[in-house]
Amino acid sequence: MSKKEEPKPPSIFQMAKTFAGELTKYIKEGAPNVSNKVYIERLEACNTCPHLIKSSMRCGLCGCLLEHKAKWKTTTCPDKPERWKPVFMDKAALELKKNFDEQEEEEKRKQEILDKKRAIKAAKLVNEKRGFGNLKAKDLTSNNLKVTYKKINDAENPEDNNSKTSK
Ligand code: SF4
Repeated sequence: MSKKEEPKPPSIFQMAKTFAGELTKYIKEGAPNVSNKVYIERLEACNTCPHLIKSSMRCGLCGCLLEHKAKWKTTTCPDKPERWKPVFMDKAALELKKNFDEQEEEEKRKQEILDKKRAIKAAKLVNEKRGFGNLKAKDLTSNNLKVTYKKINDAENPEDNNSKTSK
C-alpha cells in the first residue's frame, strides 16, 4: 500500500531561521498566547491544510511546530491566502485600530444625537397636527422613526394619503 506523500519541510537552516524570528517576536511581545478557542480553531484549520506534515505536526511552508505556532499570538499562517486569521497587531496597527474605533464611536454618537433630534422634531410636528394620537416614548426610538415620519408626511400632505386610500 503506497503511503500518501507528505509535503516536504524547508531546509533545516531555513526552519531554524524562521523559528528564531518567530521566537524573538514572541518573547519581545511578552510571550502572549491565544485563547483556547482560537488555538483549537487554528489547529483545525491546520489539520485540513495540504501543507501540514502530519507525521511531525509541522507546517510544511515554514517548518514550525504547530504546537507552538498555533498557540503563540504573534504568529501568522504563511499560506496565501492565510488559512487562519492573525490576532496579533503591532503598535502601529494597534494605534490605527484605536483611532478607527474612536472615529466610529464618534460617528455613532453623532448619529444617535441626530436621530433623537429628528424624533423630537417629528414628535412636535405630529402633536401640532393632532388627530394622530399622542406620541409615546417608544415613538422616539430610531426604529419607530419611519412610522413617525410617515405620520408627518400624511399630516402635511393629506391629499396624497386620500388619493391612495380612494383608489
Ligand atoms: S500554519 Fe497555515 S500553512 Fe501551515 S499548516 Fe497551518 S494552515 Fe497550513
